[in-house]
Amino acid sequence: GCKTSADVIKAIRSEAVDMVDVRMTDMLGAWQHISYPAKFFEQDQIDEGLGFDGSSLRGFKEINQSDMLLMPDPTTAFIDPFLSRKTLVMIADVKDPVTGELYNRDPRGVAKKARDYLKSTGIGDTAYFGPEAEFFVFDDVRYGTGQHFAHFEVDSAEGHWNTNRDEGPNLGYKIRAKEGYFPCPPTDTLMDLRSEMALEMIKIGLTVECQHHEVATGGQCEIDMKFDELLAMADHQMKYKYVVKQTARKFGKTATFMPKPLFGDNGSGMHCHQSIWKGKTPLFADSAGYAGLSDMCRWYIGGLLKHAGAILAFAAPTTNSYRRLVPGYEAPVNLAWSLRNRSAACRIPMYSDSPKAKRVEFRCPDPSANPYYAFSAMLMAGLDGIKNKIEPGDPIDKNIYDLPPEEAALIKTVPGSLADALIELENDHEFLLEGDVFTPDLIETYIAYKRANELDPIRLRPHPHEFFMYYDC
Ligand code: GLU
Ligand code: MG
Ligand code: MG
Repeated sequence: GCKTSADVIKAIRSEAVDMVDVRMTDMLGAWQHISYPAKFFEQDQIDEGLGFDGSSLRGFKEINQSDMLLMPDPTTAFIDPFLSRKTLVMIADVKDPVTGELYNRDPRGVAKKARDYLKSTGIGDTAYFGPEAEFFVFDDVRYGTGQHFAHFEVDSAEGHWNTNRDEGPNLGYKIRAKEGYFPCPPTDTLMDLRSEMALEMIKIGLTVECQHHEVATGGQCEIDMKFDELLAMADHQMKYKYVVKQTARKFGKTATFMPKPLFGDNGSGMHCHQSIWKGKTPLFADSAGYAGLSDMCRWYIGGLLKHAGAILAFAAPTTNSYRRLVPGYEAPVNLAWSLRNRSAACRIPMYSDSPKAKRVEFRCPDPSANPYYAFSAMLMAGLDGIKNKIEPGDPIDKNIYDLPPEEAALIKTVPGSLADALIELENDHEFLLEGDVFTPDLIETYIAYKRANELDPIRLRPHPHEFFMYYDC
């Protein structure tokens, strides 16, 4: 537990650290890093920053001033359990050396500004986030042609899986369609691997509450961390993904957070539980309110639902995200709120009556999101809801799929594609600009990047399944 740069230097010397690794998150949510031999690493490198070329990173490109500074945060220091030489890691902010300000596109800087903006509104002082990132573990992956995954389908007549995979002999105990949640080993073959992951997470400072297999066959997993304050939780989420990927790799497997790797089975979500507190007082609870929720929480939900399209440009930010947000797989489709309905975007967990447990679960996000941007966008939408007393409408506790079509038609739905979500962000982002949390430059750059580098490459490419449908036309 380091607090200052002096603590870090002391730890480096007393624990015989070999390397210091400084990491920052790029616009798309991937960790980037640069390493320094500990022998020559000095305290003023933490205090004054470490230079790097900002023009080579995804989304940082267009800046004319490419010299940027990494400002390591001593409170994030941990020893990396996966590297062969003893390596101390710190997560860094990005600073512009010319202005001396945090760089406006740096995701971690955005999260810091969102945290500060909450305080400045006087609404509360802490926003807590509890993301539940799901992921798949595979034995191998052959993308390139797309054949491996694009043709993974349910054989509905047989009621079991026809994976079209090269499986070879096996020992049975196959997880049936959507029955991954959650039989014991030997059916669950990933128990040991998830325990390894959970224990490595704890070793680097995360608080893990449980781990389990998820609904999808083919090795879908979830490991749950205890909620934490927005910025800390976004840092934790980066560490979480790192441990999952590194542990899988160590055991000869591969893990992916892409939201919908398998056709016909559940995708991977990153439901985000959220609440606002003032000191030790939870502000989302009121025993007189519907589901024990305060007016403030209801308006927060109103903000999330109103701005959901724009939020999803950050919280479900890939073309693949929208293959998950479809009916039938426990992923939300309807921009509604509900006590129990898992097809609603906002669910109110009812496991406990305690005011401390009162929170909203926003189910649309998925783990391909950059957590700094995604958490910040959700908080900004919720705060906009509170400030403007935005009502979310009546809760829908009935099964939405059973509603008569004319009633169902009144419920707004999530964007159908990344293209649509980006249009929503383009048309609805005033709420993100409050307190300069997001800047017009960041939003424009982000939208342009996604269109040029993700939408077009998918839109312009013949899809493997098109050969199946149209080759003989
Ligand atoms: N995998 C589902 C999703 O895509 C969620 C399953 C659950 O409720 O945990 O959101
Ligand atoms: Mg889950
Ligand atoms: Mg959940």
